[in-house]
Amino acid sequence: MFKLIHQEKNSRARLGKISTSHGEIDTPCFMPVGTHATIKGLYPKDVLESGAQIMLSNTYHLFLRPGMDVIRKAGGLHKFISWDRPILTDSGGFQIFSLALLRKLSDKGVEFQSHIDGFRHFLSPEDIIDIQRDLGSDIIMPLDECVHYPCSRFQAEVAMQRTINWAKRSKRHKEENRGGPDKKQFLFGIVQGATYEDLRCACAKELVDMDFEGYSIGGVSVGEPSNLIYNMLDTTASLLPVQRPRYAMGIGYPQDILEAVERGVDMFDCVVPTRYGRNGTAFTSKGKVKIVNSPYIEDFEALDEKCSCYTCKTFSRAYLRHLFNAQEMLGLTLLSLHNVYFFLDLMRKIRGAIKDNCFLEFKNDFLEDYFSADLL
Ligand SMILES: [Zn+2]
Repeated sequence: MFKLIHQEKNSRARLGKISTSHGEIDTPCFMPVGTHATIKGLYPKDVLESGAQIMLSNTYHLFLRPGMDVIRKAGGLHKFISWDRPILTDSGGFQIFSLALLRKLSDKGVEFQSHIDGFRHFLSPEDIIDIQRDLGSDIIMPLDECVHYPCSRFQAEVAMQRTINWAKRSKRHKEENRGGPDKKQFLFGIVQGATYEDLRCACAKELVDMDFEGYSIGGVSVGEPSNLIYNMLDTTASLLPVQRPRYAMGIGYPQDILEAVERGVDMFDCVVPTRYGRNGTAFTSKGKVKIVNSPYIEDFEALDEKCSCYTCKTFSRAYLRHLFNAQEMLGLTLLSLHNVYFFLDLMRKIRGAIKDNCFLEFKNDFLEDYFSADLL
């Protein structure tokens, strides 16, 4: 499934390739997030043309709406949304903990109320595997317990132990029940343990012993300071097998991605490109640009002179600002398109730098430019 292609000489950054039945993914990769099975505001063809090789979708949201009956009848998620490339789905754990109402957790699973209609549901780790089998996603996650930051050591340990038990049950269940629209699915183990180094180590060790097809680093970027995130990535990534992909869930901003790549992380996802795009903020090589600000009224330059996306090649900052001020849909689309392209392009450049053994130099140059001008 995963092939390590090149280990960078001066850092732990690495190049790899993930092969799935829907295509290959070059790593380090960024996965645009389609919460409701759509990358908000963008045509799938434009997401593909921007260089996306995989997208992420959320099991929790799809389970609630449109519901599994619809997706099963459509023949799986790829067919339902007309995306024939790889899809990764999360377990829904994070959304159950952050969105659902009245959660009740036990070793059996999680009972919760839908945030949409208040309807009660119970899902076991086995149910989560079955749902993702029917979705037919290429890479799937086991149910895990996420904790908030800060959280006590006791809480973190209970959640970690439950995550390990659920991972064990998920793996067993998947092995016993193959099938679904796409039979070949890769199940990752999720390393939890909050900010406690020894818990992270213990969790990683147990999961590695179970031999998953990849490993996720969960419970990071949940409000803790950056240096804690980097320490946890350091600790966790170094314990994971070299020949398996490593995925830092929910990371992040360009600077976080670079720090994680340096520590040997291969996969990333985050909603920020489209969320910021919809709110009028663009990520550029010179930092974040808030397009509605007054300096851009008569700025006829490209949004980012170093970017080759459709938005930057075609339109001026002044026009983009006008679209936002007039509350035109096109503004949201054009900024989201640029942001998604910007993140995917960053990954392309990262891969190029790793190949040439100059990742650290690239990282320093990028960050120097990125933080050089405060364009807000
Ligand atoms: Zn652009």
